Amino acid sequence: MRIDHLIGGKSVKGSDYFETVNPATQEVLAEVASGGEAEVNAAVAAAKEAFPKWAGMPAPERAKLIRKLGDLIAKNVPEIAQTETNDCGQVIAQTGKQLVPRAADNFYYFAEMCTRVDGHTYPTPTHLNYTLFHPVGVCALISPWNVPFMTATWKVAPCLAFGNTAVLKMSELSPLTAARLGELALEAGIPPGVLNLVHGYGKEAGEPLVAHPDVRAISFTGSTATGNRIVKSAGLKKFSMELGGKSPFVIFEDADLDRALDAAVFMIFSNNGERCTAGSRILVQQSIYADFAAKFAERARRITVGDPLDEKTIVGPMISQAHLAKVRSYIELGPKEGATLLCGGLEAPSNLPNRVKKGNYVTPTVFADVDNRMKIAQDEIFGPVACLIPFRDEAHAIELANDIQYGLSSYVWTENIGKAHRVAAAVEAGMCFVNSQNVRDLRQPFGGTKASGTGREGGTWSYEVFCEPKNVAVSL
Ligand code: NAD
Repeated sequence: MRIDHLIGGKSVKGSDYFETVNPATQEVLAEVASGGEAEVNAAVAAAKEAFPKWAGMPAPERAKLIRKLGDLIAKNVPEIAQTETNDCGQVIAQTGKQLVPRAADNFYYFAEMCTRVDGHTYPTPTHLNYTLFHPVGVCALISPWNVPFMTATWKVAPCLAFGNTAVLKMSELSPLTAARLGELALEAGIPPGVLNLVHGYGKEAGEPLVAHPDVRAISFTGSTATGNRIVKSAGLKKFSMELGGKSPFVIFEDADLDRALDAAVFMIFSNNGERCTAGSRILVQQSIYADFAAKFAERARRITVGDPLDEKTIVGPMISQAHLAKVRSYIELGPKEGATLLCGGLEAPSNLPNRVKKGNYVTPTVFADVDNRMKIAQDEIFGPVACLIPFRDEAHAIELANDIQYGLSSYVWTENIGKAHRVAAAVEAGMCFVNSQNVRDLRQPFGGTKASGTGREGGTWSYEVFCEPKNVAVSL
């Protein structure tokens, strides 16, 4: 199978192609067009040409087309979920039941929202000020390989709904479902040129896209290193940067331990541990630390690692052999830094089905006695590797939670309501979940602080990147 660019509603062949590989089997799934400056220029030109008509379409009409795209995704969930699972190794229980259906919801949500964009008025005795929210223009949407379809739609839906046009660049490691999104957008009646797709590598396709003078806004999700690079080359564009994380999952001695255990296991091992909001630093109060560690490791040992197409599988393969090597290097490093390996380690998971024997698998791994300054505690491993770190009291928990370059998500578990609010306020993160795993509401501001990024998306927060506010002052 060949996957080509989508530019101005037409399939455009690549001058070169790269392979996308199933990380569970190493089977080549498709040859994908590898774009560069020429394809980026053509895609941006197509988006620029389509912009005035799309932006000028009454919002209810745009909403109808956006909703139709949601319907087409909803109708094709099993097919899209299977493609996504094959392309990136995310287990089918997640892609089929959660992530692809949520992608359809992204379109439903923003279809409704774009019909309700209103402004503000600031009357004075001499002037009436009011706000208009205009679309920005051509937007560059860049997505990582983890949760690729959900992330792409999370960007495309508000971008298009608010009247912008887009050039979407997926990760070279997981481009397949976005190609399907492009087809469905045309089928929904979204005019050619409104959504364009350029496939390819970051250096060849991503760099010219973010530097293009006709691109007015960038919505980027990916690593902190790439985010930093993009900010430097973007110049005066609007942007939102959703970057890496190493989120603290803080459990006090008065927490509901069973629920905290379930949530802690879910937040580090689901999505193969390849999750930006993973609770990868599990801070546990000293008095319950030994008990918690034993129970946590016991649950980790029971996790089903296997074929991502099997509904019962919890942990599938890592996205690539390079990423597998990176995750394994941290598993090797842990004991050298002084951490205690409670379960997992370098040995491949036992009992892998034949079909996936060559997959990029890591056994769910738990390190105890982790010091927050160790590299395994400070670096984003982005795999099924948990670090258990003891703390003394509330002040110590806050100190450890914040002693990190990242600030994406955070989790606090306590039955003491005052303590919950105090820690939630003190933790340096864009999001804090109290007695809960990460539960996304499309209205909430999603994003991080410190090295986890800048800008927020979701609900009216998406105006920040996808709308240009204008104040009109009328002399009375
Ligand atoms: P990455 O930074 O390597 O790549 C992300 C995207 O950027 C890819 O499409 C890539 O091709 C492109 N790219 C690379 N170099 C570029 C350049 N110079 N200019 C323009 N584009 C370029 O990240 P990844 O490895 O694909 O994804 C994993 C990272 O994403 C992790 O750090 C994870 O935490 C983060 N992430 C963050 C969120 C969030 O919402 N904060 C969500 C998911 C993933």
